[in-house]
Amino acid sequence: MMLKIGITGGIGSGKTTVCKVFELLGVPVFYADDVAKSIMHTDPILKSGILEAFGQKSYTQSGELNRSYISSIVFNDKHELEKLNSLVHPAVFRAFDTWVLSQKEASYVIKEAALLYESDAYKMCDQSILVISPIETRISRVKARDGISAEDIQLRMNRQFSDEQKMKFADHILNNDEKQLLIPQIIQLHQQFLMIGS
Ligand code: ATP
Repeated sequence: MMLKIGITGGIGSGKTTVCKVFELLGVPVFYADDVAKSIMHTDPILKSGILEAFGQKSYTQSGELNRSYISSIVFNDKHELEKLNSLVHPAVFRAFDTWVLSQKEASYVIKEAALLYESDAYKMCDQSILVISPIETRISRVKARDGISAEDIQLRMNRQFSDEQKMKFADHILNNDEKQLLIPQIIQLHQQFLMIGS
């Protein structure tokens, strides 16, 4: 069985940056949040589930997801959001399983997910990595990257577990505080995973 490593971290922690380094080391990375977005347009089982749950307006005539309609339904309604997640999450798990089977040459693979612990996706991984950075650093990074306000960033943070909560689940911690060197920490983990995976 292929070794599967989950990576997560709060908004602006640098998890995607970390994944890009793993990719440079030749490790295949599955970006679960990107896949979740794209399969809403393409996975027939998921599409029919969404149509059944949210009605014909969920898709345009040409079969594209009506994202603004779906967002308006789930935005302020926890129950509707849970309903959508209960359709999307299993579809992402299916896509991940299929993707893993196609990674025949790899010693191990990585799954990046913002809500790895919140969504239970970590249970499908053998080990997990948490990327941490100080809150102020995360806020200034996301401000610079996305041009959004500190208040909006704080709202997004409130929807995720805190780092303290996430640390209880994590097998490995990468400290991306811009003081400790990041790449040597990544290479050390890479070597560990190569030993287990081979
Ligand atoms: P999100 O959950 O919002 O997608 P993320 O955890 O994937 O965030 P990244 O996109 O990797 O975070 O990083 C956020 C921003 O901070 C990016 O613009 C990235 O280039 C920058 N960044 C990350 N780590 C560092 C670092 N060590 N030094 C300088 N800039 C960094």
